[in-house]
Amino acid sequence: MSTFSRDTEIFRDEDMLREDYQPESITAREEELEAYKTALQPVVNGAQPRNIFLYGKTGVGKTAVSRYLLTRLQQDTAQYDDVDLSVVWLNCTNLSSSYQVAVNLVNELREPDEQISTTGYPQQRVFDILYEELESIGGTILLVFDEIDHIGSDDEILYELPRARSNGYLESVKPGVIGISNDFGFRDELSPKVKDTLCEEEIHFPPYQAPELEAILQRRVDGALYDNATAAGVISLCAALSAQDTGSARQALNLLYKAGELARAAGESTIIESHVHEARDALEQSQIEHGMRELTRHGHLALVATLDLALQDATPARVRDIYPRYRTIAEHSDADPLVRRRMHDHLADLSMLGILDRWARNEGRAGGQYYEYEFKVDLTTVCEVVADFEGISLPDTVARHT
Ligand code: ADP
Ligand code: MG
Repeated sequence: MSTFSRDTEIFRDEDMLREDYQPESITAREEELEAYKTALQPVVNGAQPRNIFLYGKTGVGKTAVSRYLLTRLQQDTAQYDDVDLSVVWLNCTNLSSSYQVAVNLVNELREPDEQISTTGYPQQRVFDILYEELESIGGTILLVFDEIDHIGSDDEILYELPRARSNGYLESVKPGVIGISNDFGFRDELSPKVKDTLCEEEIHFPPYQAPELEAILQRRVDGALYDNATAAGVISLCAALSAQDTGSARQALNLLYKAGELARAAGESTIIESHVHEARDALEQSQIEHGMRELTRHGHLALVATLDLALQDATPARVRDIYPRYRTIAEHSDADPLVRRRMHDHLADLSMLGILDRWARNEGRAGGQYYEYEFKVDLTTVCEVVADFEGISLPDTVARHT
């Protein structure tokens, strides 16, 4: 007997449940598609493109809808000889400035053996190289900056590119910028001149409601799972749980995928509701672990200080008890301790992430209010995560548990 054999139950094509799978059709986004189409119409007419800004929380279809519609746009404009459309897609995750975006864009357009270095050029020089590259492509060029909020307030490029033609940097090119952001705050914090230029056409993607998520899941499941792989109510449970939490299709898909994996691991041929609940717990757990790892250095220090107290049964603890532990650990780790109030902000963040629980208490007759903190997650998990922190000198109590 062989060790491995193909699944004949549950998953028919599990890749279809992955978030990077591009669906052939878009479900439940009629209004947004309509607005997007209208904003792209000048391209079809061979006119100067509008700049478009899409925003909405993660998992609400911004990337999927853009890919779908821009592919259609390319197909449908092929019939017009006077429209020469190129779409250049850049994911800006990990790019924190206009300079980096410009360099990466140049490298996206160039052959592998002609890449430019990511440092060392004056910004204007990189823009000049970029304009040369765009000129050599010519025609209408749509530049899609996905996850553009990563560039923060260094947003010069969003001003420069849309105006490059009227400023005489581009001659034969009609550039259009499509910015996609997960962060509502990013739009408001754009410099006023960028806001005027980029946000010519804004399209907001609201979170999905349960019936919309159910429709999206159902479409996906038809190809991804074998018939009868889900018990009645499973799809609507995944949709309902995700709608209550984030309204994200990504979350709903992940939940169903994980539930399927749990069913497969248990050797069962049907996904039932309890698999979905288990899947949710598992995903929440890994999300919290991820949240702990991604904290800043002072977030890590505040976490370790609270953990130290928890391991000595000294939680729930007040800020006035956690703060001295934090100071000591920071000093031993060669970090300048923050003032107490700033450190308290980090504790508040930890409770927002679901890592700590916190309660407000009243000071009795003296009046005033204070907070008490305690771990909301399993200490063993916290110890495992903390063991990987670099550059933090762990107190003995914690070190013994890692
Ligand atoms: P965002 O870019 O807003 O974070 P995505 O476009 O990546 O979200 O969507 C997350 C996942 O959900 C992807 O797998 C995507 O294919 C799917 N999805 C989202 N919205 C829809 C939709 N309206 N129809 C079909 N699939 C969708
Ligand atoms: Mg996206």
